[in-house]
Amino acid sequence: MLVLLKKGAGETVASDVAGRLRMAGFSVHRTDHDGQVRIGAVGDGAGVEWDEVRRWPGVESVARIPVPFKLASRAFHPHDTVITVGRCAIGSDQLALMAGPCSVEGEEQVFRIAAAVAEAGATVMRGGAYKPRTSPYSFQGLGEEGLRLLRRAADAHDLAVVSEVMDTQQVELVARYADVLQVGARNMQNYSLLREVGHSTKPVLLKRGLAATIEEWLMSAEHVISHGNAQVILCERGIRTFETYTRNTLDLNAIPVVKELSHLPVIVDPSHGTGLRDKVAPMARAAIAAGADGLIIEVHHDPDHALSDGVQSLWPEQYAGLVQQIATIAAVLGRRL
Ligand code: PEP
Ligand code: MN
Repeated sequence: MLVLLKKGAGETVASDVAGRLRMAGFSVHRTDHDGQVRIGAVGDGAGVEWDEVRRWPGVESVARIPVPFKLASRAFHPHDTVITVGRCAIGSDQLALMAGPCSVEGEEQVFRIAAAVAEAGATVMRGGAYKPRTSPYSFQGLGEEGLRLLRRAADAHDLAVVSEVMDTQQVELVARYADVLQVGARNMQNYSLLREVGHSTKPVLLKRGLAATIEEWLMSAEHVISHGNAQVILCERGIRTFETYTRNTLDLNAIPVVKELSHLPVIVDPSHGTGLRDKVAPMARAAIAAGADGLIIEVHHDPDHALSDGVQSLWPEQYAGLVQQIATIAAVLGRRL
């Protein structure tokens, strides 16, 4: 339930209402907007008559949150959530540009790519050190050494770092090196992992599952937030359909749908969304035009020899050209890089 207090109800009233709901067994989440306190009471409380709560001092209204995800919903939190990552305020008028290789492969590779994406205008560097590969015989990532290299390369160019965490036991380690913890599509419904990143103080990049509905995706965000971490960045990366000309079908519908349902920022990954280098730029432009808060794009200086996802990786010059186009589209929408 959502308990809205009267404007200017005051701190004593707010903590009293929150305390009473907590005592009744609810998990209580408070947001303050424009001088008005909203208290979300989530879970199974006992012995609370909502008609009575409506008459508590300072209470303006009590309403049901009309969706199964509560903390992720716009009803609970009407204003956009803005998550600061390095030099970027994700979810604000500034677009988040994240770029880098699919996998960290070695020192020379990450340093070259970091220089190129920073020069092009990216503010966050991506790179996997723990890779969820379909085949057990494919390159599985460099592990901690990869994270160390990624961090050094990013620091050398004033970039923040996003990297995937594949299981609960890696969360602390990845959080030591990365600014954002990526939960991959294959792990979107790994609830133990969602709990663990929910206990972290680092923002989480939550990719949409290969066959997940938007509601299931937002329920996964709800898991993370309900464990204490409200810094969730959603990432649309394409879903499985019957179509075979592209690796996945990038669901651009998801952007306006999520924007209406949730206050969380949503970015788009046109690299995995298409799986094809020449399809990345058109879909990246479309994503920004549709209202996405940013892009995460695979870039490699030698994609023909990349150890993973070379066929969908942009050449650095292509990425730089794309960023220029994105800047033009952003200006039309009153946004900026
Ligand atoms: C990746 O970002 O390299 C990746 C494996 O993405 P996804 O989880 O979306 O497949
Ligand atoms: Mn990849």
